[in-house]
Amino acid sequence: MNIRKSGNFKNILGKGETASIENITSDFVSLASHQLRTPLSAVKWNTEILLGQKPGRLNRRQLQYLREIYRSNERAISLVNDLLDVSRIQEGEIHLDLRQTRVEDIIEEVLDNLDTLIQASRVSVDFEIRSGPLPKVETDPEKLKRVIINLVSNAVKYTPAGGKVKIAAEQRAGAVRITVTDSGVGISAADQKKIFTKFFRSAKVLKFSPDGTGLGLFITRSLVEAMGGKIGFQSTEGRGSNFYFTIPIKYAKKT
Ligand code: ADP
Repeated sequence: MNIRKSGNFKNILGKGETASIENITSDFVSLASHQLRTPLSAVKWNTEILLGQKPGRLNRRQLQYLREIYRSNERAISLVNDLLDVSRIQEGEIHLDLRQTRVEDIIEEVLDNLDTLIQASRVSVDFEIRSGPLPKVETDPEKLKRVIINLVSNAVKYTPAGGKVKIAAEQRAGAVRITVTDSGVGISAADQKKIFTKFFRSAKVLKFSPDGTGLGLFITRSLVEAMGGKIGFQSTEGRGSNFYFTIPIKYAKKT
């Protein structure tokens, strides 16, 4: 399964043929990803049972190998989920389940979910609400959570141990604006142009964080825009990055 190939196929096709090969590629990715979910979940649950050592005690080396299987499987699950999201986005199939949502609750949930990553990275993560209590926003809480997870986990992954990540939320002109600032490796001027492109990963991060997919920010931007917001960032190489996005208090479908 190599969806990058769609770019290469284009070169050998006539004009009218490009769209159909892209559809085939996207259908194929979506089908393959759906099919992969069941066996990957089976590996996950069964590995968890073995790791729990109820069926029998394991020695240290066996546990070590099993943990590696578990980690690799988790990576495969997140890749499959990302590929499914990308194919939904490309099909224009982002359905919003709108609810009155407290942004601060979602941020607390994200911090809970990312606790293991944060502890392992030895990066300090703070959250502050600026400018008084936040209004609720009319949005899809799961998608908002996904966006914040992507930005905060990037900030943590791309900040060396001892660094700082700061999440801030404030009300601004009919929207809540969320900012994730890190003191990490930053993004070079040349890479900044490509940052929201599918599969883009900077050469620098490939060395110390080989597991990413380069799909997170593409998905993040598509979700923010589907929720009626805007996303942007500033970054200085070697100094850190600052990603921000807005979510309108009242959802309005884009025309
Ligand atoms: P992934 O994290 O899986 O590589 P993303 O789409 O989330 O995919 O990010 C794409 C690339 O953008 C990353 O590989 C990295 O090079 C760069 N990047 C994203 N967030 C940050 C950040 N906070 N600091 C430095 N680089 C970043």
